[in-house]
Amino acid sequence: MLKLEKLNKSFGEHHALVDITTTFPEHQTTVILGPSGSGKSTLLRSLNLLERPESGRYFFDDDVFDFAKGISVKDTLNIRKRTEMVFQGYNLFPHLTVLKNIMEGPIQVLRRPKAEVEKDAHALLKKVGLADKADVYPNQLSGGQAQRVAIARSLAMQPKYILLDEPTSALDPELELEVLKVLKQISTEKRSMIIVTHNMAFAREVADKIIFVEDGHILFDGSNEDFFKTENKRIADFISAMT
Ligand code: ATP
Ligand code: MG
Repeated sequence: MLKLEKLNKSFGEHHALVDITTTFPEHQTTVILGPSGSGKSTLLRSLNLLERPESGRYFFDDDVFDFAKGISVKDTLNIRKRTEMVFQGYNLFPHLTVLKNIMEGPIQVLRRPKAEVEKDAHALLKKVGLADKADVYPNQLSGGQAQRVAIARSLAMQPKYILLDEPTSALDPELELEVLKVLKQISTEKRSMIIVTHNMAFAREVADKIIFVEDGHILFDGSNEDFFKTENKRIADFISAMT
């Protein structure tokens, strides 16, 4: 279980996250929604320690970290092993084939045996619908295919939580659909995922839990079902504007 308590993050004068307290349940998909500039990416990046909040506590299973005291390099690496951020597909290594891109982390970082890693990599490519692309290079992929390889590459690291920040924002609508299909499939496998998205239909379909952020505050934190029938006017307006 991943949990935050009274997290605060500022950028100069701007208080981007204010006393954020919430949990990200295991084996569930949590979707973070909210207007542009509300703090969604900052929240997601804080989970992976790409942002360093000034204060707050971070609970991961039995571990507790205090941002005010700082988090050591060793603990940071440990947290990053358990929370894998899926970056947009253009972060793939251009000089490695798709298969080798997926194998790199498990071999170099996790030190797993090559034969086993290769077998898993093929299975992951199949899962994201790219079994036939193992031997091509990233520049031969469409944007949607590259993004699916990036997802497979993150899954290969066997993290506890997979974090995605607007995973389809750079894609045309048709390419977006193929990526969303893969993510929907993964969300049915009861993995622990945290996704920032603007796509309401997708949120409604995959989310177990929804967190709605505005001006650095959590305005809603609850089930998918409750979110879409909320009586909070601000949230209801947001939902109708986005759908
Ligand atoms: P969007 O939907 O547009 O991606 P967001 O909800 O992800 O928005 P954040 O990127 O988390 O928003 O930003 C929250 C606020 O913090 C914004 O006002 C933004 O301008 C500010 N901010 C984010 N990163 C930085 C930074 N590195 N330096 C200064 N201000 C920042
Ligand atoms: Mg963002």
